[in-house]
Amino acid sequence: MSLIVVGSVAFDTVETPAAKADRVLGGSATYFSYAASFFGPVRLVGVVGTDFPPAYRELLQSRNIDTAGLETVEGKTFFWRGAYEKDMNKRTTLEVDLNVFGEFDPTLPEHFRDSRFVFLANGSPRVQMRVLEQVARPQLVVADTMNFYIESQRDDLLKLMRRIDGMVLNDEEAFMLTGASHLVDAGRKVLAMGPKFVVIKKGEHGAMLVTPTGVIVLPAYPTDRVVDPTGAGDSFAGGMMGYLATQEVFDEPRLRRAMAYGTVVASFGVEDFSLDRFRQIGMDNIRSRYEQYRAMLAL
Ligand code: AMP
Repeated sequence: MSLIVVGSVAFDTVETPAAKADRVLGGSATYFSYAASFFGPVRLVGVVGTDFPPAYRELLQSRNIDTAGLETVEGKTFFWRGAYEKDMNKRTTLEVDLNVFGEFDPTLPEHFRDSRFVFLANGSPRVQMRVLEQVARPQLVVADTMNFYIESQRDDLLKLMRRIDGMVLNDEEAFMLTGASHLVDAGRKVLAMGPKFVVIKKGEHGAMLVTPTGVIVLPAYPTDRVVDPTGAGDSFAGGMMGYLATQEVFDEPRLRRAMAYGTVVASFGVEDFSLDRFRQIGMDNIRSRYEQYRAMLAL
């Protein structure tokens, strides 16, 4: 499998009603690559500043994440600060310092260019497009985006959407992007913009897959330990793409299974801050929770 991701590698400060984590390792590409690495190797494209600790790079490398595409440039690493309300589905972004990520113009290492599976994690659509253009023959291209880019770089995002196979979005972003008034309508409107499938994530209420032939809804895995939901969307995408990258075809049953893996992987990620919970588990834990999840859905 050859799975490549581009996105943010960040320091996050996260406040929840119960606790606070200060300047911990985060970022869309970080969560994605760690989550996907349970399934196979991952190629990471991103940028950090000179303040990024070597131990973090080593942590990613220890997971079979190739960091040859993670540039270090003079300056500070991307910083994000957010706070959750008592209802942890509600989050406010308090600070975004793009720092070196704001000037990022990626050049892919030669050995990344034959990647077959491409995930364009949260980041500027211009940077997402730059990476896509450098992959010679992608087989499956999926992108994420967020309110920040839907508002400020809409035209570039619409251009990108005509070049991708799939999209993952949360419900709020799907409404903002399409102007739709209910989720199925939002899904259909996203498909009209280019992608062949879209996954709309609804936090603890699960996720919905919309394709030209139908709609599939899966609930979230009901973990009772939600410490920090940050990165859940990226971890979901990592589990989903990590599984797809082990497959030869992408029909609806496989997309459904991929969503289920994404759901299960994300459910572990929220059980602690940063990558802390992921660092304690292996594929055996993911498999056994996947089986519990399957049993839970038996009708
Ligand atoms: P999620 O909880 O899935 O929305 O992802 C949260 C992660 O996205 C955090 O680790 C942040 O560092 C990262 N993030 C926040 N804002 C941005 C942004 N504008 N561009 C890229 N990544 C971001």
